[in-house]
Amino acid sequence: MDSPAPRAFVIGHPIAHSRSPLLHGFWLRSLGLAGSYERVDVAPANLTGFVRSLADAGWVGGNVTIPHKTAVMALVDDLDVDAEAIGAVNTLWLEGGRLVGGNTDAIGFVANLDEEAPGWDDGAGRRAVVLGAGGAARAVLHGLRRRGFEVVVANRTEASAVALAARFRGEAVAWDRLSARLAMADVVVNTTSLGMAGQPPLRLDLSALHDQAVVCDIVYVPLETALLQSARARGLRAVGGLGMLLHQAVPGFARWFGVTPTVTPALREVLSADVRARAA
Ligand code: NAP
Repeated sequence: MDSPAPRAFVIGHPIAHSRSPLLHGFWLRSLGLAGSYERVDVAPANLTGFVRSLADAGWVGGNVTIPHKTAVMALVDDLDVDAEAIGAVNTLWLEGGRLVGGNTDAIGFVANLDEEAPGWDDGAGRRAVVLGAGGAARAVLHGLRRRGFEVVVANRTEASAVALAARFRGEAVAWDRLSARLAMADVVVNTTSLGMAGQPPLRLDLSALHDQAVVCDIVYVPLETALLQSARARGLRAVGGLGMLLHQAVPGFARWFGVTPTVTPALREVLSADVRARAA
């Protein structure tokens, strides 16, 4: 008998706004694969039941989003090294009957820079300044450390910057002392929600950056933030956040459906159009 077509999910609460079904649906269709990727609203009280019975319910795995990324860590059989380092799970899959929790955000972050700013990590002793110390900052710091960067973290709430700097063997710097550190930065990454639609813009004086520095904003709503615009105006390479979202989805899809998908211009256009349409 043929095995059933693989079914994967994204769980969160709420979940209606997740763009992951659009992304995985694009790959399923363009690769001509049988299978599905479905949104499932799972309230916190139902998380344990959902995760413990997911194999019996016929799921091959899926994505985990807010508010479950940390809570789900205690419910899996194994964590991958990235989930351990980041302290959160965004992808679940079954391996030899065991449920594994992984985190693909750091992979997505560096793959986006590899694609959009080739050579961004070339050379020894590279330094990065990371703005923000929330969930996304952990993935970004992990990705940067894995690529050999020295890291400096600045955050509005300084205690969180100090804690993350300790976790990722970096240095914390006070928000109001940032400009002095920018002169030494090869890469600057915004992981705060500043610049996101509905939030104030991130105001950062980029004049101290050297000419080869790369500025990355992981915010992708809007696609082009004020930070990216000022980096481009200053002649710097500027990388937006949409590619991180696209690239972080690759490893999960490969595990659930058995084919490694590609981040193509057509996929970027589908997601970009969705971002623009929802902003209109
Ligand atoms: P989070 O855990 O809530 O962290 C938010 C961060 O923004 C904190 O460091 C917070 O500082 C800072 N912040 C918020 N308002 C601020 C303000 N008015 N002034 C200065 N700092 C402020 O959120 P997250 O999950 O890390 O997400 C952060 C951003 O990354 C969001 O825009 C999200 O969409 C984006 N993101 C993108 C991707 C992608 O794939 N491209 C993936 C994940 C997240 P405090 O600690 O002081 O509150």
